[in-house]
Formats: sequence, C-alpha cells, structure tokens
Amino acid sequence: MNRIGVTPEMVSRVIPVDPFDLVIFGGTGDLARRKILPALFRRFCAGQMPDDSRIIGAARSEMSESEYRDLVRDALAEFGKKHAEDKHAVEAFLKHLHYVAVDAMGDGGWKEMKALLRDEEGLVRAFYFSVGPSLFGPLAEQLRENGLADRETRIVVEKPFGHDLESARSLNEELAQHFYEDQIYRIDHYLGKETVQNLMAVRFGNMLFEPLWNAQYVDHIQITVAETVGVGGRGSYYDHSGAMRDMVQNHLMQLLCLIAMEPPAQFEADAVRDEKLKVIRALDPVDPDQIVRGQYTSDGSMPSYREDAENPTSKTESFIALKCYISNWRWANTPFYLRTGKRLSARASEIAVVFKETPHSIFGIDSGRHRNVLSIRLQPDEGMTLGVTIKEPGPGGMRLVDVPLDMSFADALGPDAEEVTDAYERLIMDVIRGNQTLFMRGDEVEAAWAWTDPLIEGWERRGDSPKPYDAGSGGPDDAAFLINRDGRRWRGIKI
Ligand code: NAD
Repeated sequence: MNRIGVTPEMVSRVIPVDPFDLVIFGGTGDLARRKILPALFRRFCAGQMPDDSRIIGAARSEMSESEYRDLVRDALAEFGKKHAEDKHAVEAFLKHLHYVAVDAMGDGGWKEMKALLRDEEGLVRAFYFSVGPSLFGPLAEQLRENGLADRETRIVVEKPFGHDLESARSLNEELAQHFYEDQIYRIDHYLGKETVQNLMAVRFGNMLFEPLWNAQYVDHIQITVAETVGVGGRGSYYDHSGAMRDMVQNHLMQLLCLIAMEPPAQFEADAVRDEKLKVIRALDPVDPDQIVRGQYTSDGSMPSYREDAENPTSKTESFIALKCYISNWRWANTPFYLRTGKRLSARASEIAVVFKETPHSIFGIDSGRHRNVLSIRLQPDEGMTLGVTIKEPGPGGMRLVDVPLDMSFADALGPDAEEVTDAYERLIMDVIRGNQTLFMRGDEVEAAWAWTDPLIEGWERRGDSPKPYDAGSGGPDDAAFLINRDGRRWRGIKI
C-alpha cells in the first residue's frame, strides 16, 4: 500500500473485455510498432486480452505470418518497456498475431482477410486504420464491399482528421457512407491520458472545485503543451500543417473543452461529447493581435525549422500562443491562454486554473496578494498540484507563503502507475468495450476546424511570417508580451 492507500491490486485491476478480432491496417507502420502493438501487449500481460482474441496485421508488404511475428517481436523489444523482458510473455502474445497482405486501393488480399475473420456470436470485430487519411475512405468502402463489416463492426481512425473544415467534412461523409457514427472511433490520444480523465474526476467527483469553476472565481486558464523535439523526420508533412493544425485544433481544444464544459448528466459518450461541442461552438473568433506564431532557428548544434522542413522560405509555425474567450455565462470575459511549440527548453504539458485574488487582504499590504492555482500536469510527471497560501512558519508576525498540495500519480499510485497510464492501452480497450466517451465525434471535429480555419486563412491572406525564436528557449518574446500586457504571466514551468 502506498501513501494514499492505493494498492497495486487496485492499480492493476482489469475489467475483462469480450474476445476480439482486431485488424490493424498499417500493421507494419511506425505507429503500429511504436504504440498500438506495445499497448496491446501490455494489456495482454495485464490479463485483459481473452485467450481467443486475435490481432491481424494488414499492410501492403507481402510477408509470412512468421516474418510478421519477427517484426512485432523486434518492435516489442524496442518499445514494449519492462514487460518485453519476459520472453515467455512475448512468445505467448505473438501466438495471437496473424498477417494478411492487403491493398486498400486494389483487390489484393481481401478474400484472404474475409477467410481469416471469424463470424461468431459475441466476438468483437474492429478495424484500426493506422494509415494515411487518404486511405480512410477507400478502406471503409473495401470493408463494406467485401462483406467484412456489419452493424456491430467498429473502425478506429487516426489523426490527422482533415486539414481544414472542408476536408474533415468530406472524410466524415466518406465514412458515413459505410458506417454509422456509433461505429467510428476517432482517436485523440490526449483524451486517453490518465490525467485528462482525472480532470473530469476532480471536477465532477468533488464538491470542492465545481462551485468555484467559473468566471466569478477564476481569473484565467493556461494550457501549455511544450516539446523539446523539432519536426525532424516528418518535416515535410509538418510544413503543410503547423502547430495550429497539428496541436491546437485537436489536442489543446480537447483539453480546453474538458476544462470548460458544463457537467454532463452522465459520464456517457454522447452526454460528454454534447457538452464539449457546446464549448467549441461558444468560442469567439480570435483577433490577429491575440495570436503569436513562431518558428525555431538553429542553435548551432541542431537544424533550424526551415532546415528540418527542407523549405528555406517556409512560413509555417512551429510555435503558437493565443488568447481566446468562451462566450457563455460560465466563462464570460475569462481569458484562456493557449501555447504549444517545438524545440522549446522543456517537455512539459500543463493545464493551470488560476483563481482570482482574495478580494481583501486582512494581513496588510506586506503580506502580498495571493492566488490559488490548480495545476494539472500531463507530462512529464502526471499529477496535480493545488497551490494554497499559508503562514510562513516561525516567529516574526504573519507572513504568508504559497505552498503546493502536490499529488504526483507515480508517487501516489506507486511504481505500477506507469502501467495504467498509457493512452493507447486505454483507448484500444475502450474500442473493444464499445465505449466512445474518449473519442471525438464527427461534429466536434468539424466545429473545431470551423473555429481554426478563419484564423489560419487570416494569417495566410495577410502573408504573416512567424517570429523566429531560439531553439531551446521559451518561444518568441511576443508570446510573453501577449499575456504580460494583461498584467499576467505564463506559469513558471520551464519552457
Ligand atoms: P507509416 O508510413 O509508418 O505506415 C503506413 C502503413 O500503411 C504501412 O504499414 C503501410 O504498409 C500501410 N499502407 C500504405 N499504403 C497502403 C495501402 N494502399 N494498402 C494497405 N496498407 C497500406 O505511417 P505511420 O507513422 O504508422 O502513421 C499511420 C497513421 O497514423 C497516419 O495517419 C499518421 O498520420 C497517424 N499517426 C502517426 C503517428 C506516429 O507517431 N507515427 C502519431 C499519430 C498519428
């Protein structure tokens, strides 16, 4: 038992799922090797994968089943964390694997796939589209035409879901020709993070916070997702996207929704997603002077953004900071400051709810004015901190000091906490369970694009260039100015 009474048994308690056939299109690709297969392996080790479940890799390359198992064995050795040291577990897991070479754009492999899949009562059938978005529509069509999908079948689609509103709409339309919305699982892995769900537990499982969770008591909210990596190997893809499309439109907006939404009537997929959608629809347009875009320069040892992107005149942003407002009763006039970027000084993601100052200090001007801050850390050390004001210990009068009430999940849950925190594990198991709560609905994705599109069109029309910033810094100086001119400052997480 650890210091808050959570036992390893509680951490590792698994809720059984139905047996499944899970087909991973793109089963030889980077995402499958780094995330999806290791996540399935860890669920297998946790005892959550029923014995008669199967994972079927599907990709264009011709290879035998044993060659595919070799590929997955290597992937687990590289990305499987500590469980992968257990060779017996690895070999037992590999027995669940199969492989079919299929071409999403052609006829090859579909008969073999159909022959392999089982038609049994109570068996879940899911297809994970871990391929580029241009293949989402063709794959959905192939599944229908080849009789591989029925009303119960689920499909999982990866990001990016569209490049703008128009492309997201047409992707939604393509999928809707073959599948109902309740069969489509659009992944945003941020929603699978332990802390993100804890945000809902904290908000709606305690009496303490919700009465204060509004414009009357909250001064402002900051959402930061800072990365130290550059765009590296995916520079040319990223150059057509940028931080707004790659991070804000999906991850940061999802976090914003969970922070700002009204309490749903139940913790149930459509109830939660209805509330998130209302937040997106209540977002005001953002004035250009409330947006700062940046692009990292070289620090001598590492390439600049333009070198990474192989585009010497690129105007794509690798950093963005913006201030936005939600026009509803709860949040009227409360600023939300969002920032995200690459090649910053630290890898750190945090949501900070900064409460207002007390209306009057009974301790006199020397004691200063204090604010409570609830900080929800997504990485690197998942946890929450509530800053409270107390008396500085010792004699010498009433001096006040801010101290953290800190809960690091790793400390609180013990070393096994790592095992419950992988987003892909949770999300894939939710697909098998048929629970869409942590997946984005089509109308949510479209509403998010409808908000970001005019901002992007605005700077493209004006021909704005992003501000250069030093690699390893906290972003362009203008980002600090964006918040400082309101008499506020970015939270002191080192970025
Ligand atoms: P990848 O290029 O490494 O792999 C692509 C896979 O698709 C390969 O297995 C390939 O054989 C298969 N494929 C390509 N054309 C095919 C066809 N016509 N028919 C059947 N299979 C075909 O790509 P990836 O990095 O694994 O990314 C897959 C998807 O996941 C993309 O949509 C990407 O944007 C998204 N994604 C990737 C990451 C990541 O970290 N790699 C993160 C988030 C989202």
